[in-house]
Amino acid sequence: MKIRNSIMEVSRLLYSKNLATAFEGNISVIEDDKIYITPNGICKGFITSDMLVVMDLKGNVLEGDYKPSSEVRMHLAAYKSRPDIKSVIHAHPPYATAFAVANKPIETKAYPEMIILYGKIPLAAYGTPSTDEIYRGMDQYIKEYDIILLANHGVIAFGSDVYDAFFKMESAEGIAKVLTLAERLGGEKELPQNKLDELYELRKKHKAKA
Ligand SMILES: [Zn+2]
Repeated sequence: MKIRNSIMEVSRLLYSKNLATAFEGNISVIEDDKIYITPNGICKGFITSDMLVVMDLKGNVLEGDYKPSSEVRMHLAAYKSRPDIKSVIHAHPPYATAFAVANKPIETKAYPEMIILYGKIPLAAYGTPSTDEIYRGMDQYIKEYDIILLANHGVIAFGSDVYDAFFKMESAEGIAKVLTLAERLGGEKELPQNKLDELYELRKKHKAKA
C-alpha cells in the first residue's frame, strides 16, 4: 500500500504543480521485480490507488483493471539499464519541454545550482511516442544522467524512489524556467572561468556522493 500511496501523492503533485496537464505523463516504481505504473488516459490529478497497474519486467500485466501507460516500454528500458533506478517519471512540464521542443539541452554557465546538481540535462534524439524508438535515444545518456530531455516531446527523470524522481522533475522545470526568463532579460551572465572551475569541482563531489 505504501508504494501505491506514494505514487498517488506524487501523481497529484505533478498535476497540481502543472508538471503534467490533462492526460500527460506517467509514473512508475519498481519493487521486488514488480513495476507499479500509472494507467493510460487518466489525468494525474484524479488517479486512485486501485487504478495502478502492476507488471513484471517483461511487460506482462500481473494486477489491475486498467491499461498501463502507453510509455511503459520506456520505463522498462530504464529499469533494465540501471538497477539503481527505483522510480521513473515522465512528464511534459512546459519550460523544460520547451527546451526539448527547441532541441536544446539545458546547460548554463551562470546558474551554480544547476551546474552542481546536474552538470547538464542532455537532449536525447527524437522517437515517436509509444514506440520503442522513443527511448533508444536515451541509451547514450542514461548511465550518466538522472534527467534527460526527449527531443520534441518532454522530460524523463529517474530516482532512488518516487519522491526523488519527482523532485528531479520539479527541479528541472524550475531551472528551465529561470534560464528562459534570464533569456528574456538579455541572456545569462556567464561566471568567470575560475568560478566555473570551482563549480565543476563541486559537481564532481556531488556526483560521487550521489
Ligand atoms: Zn510523453
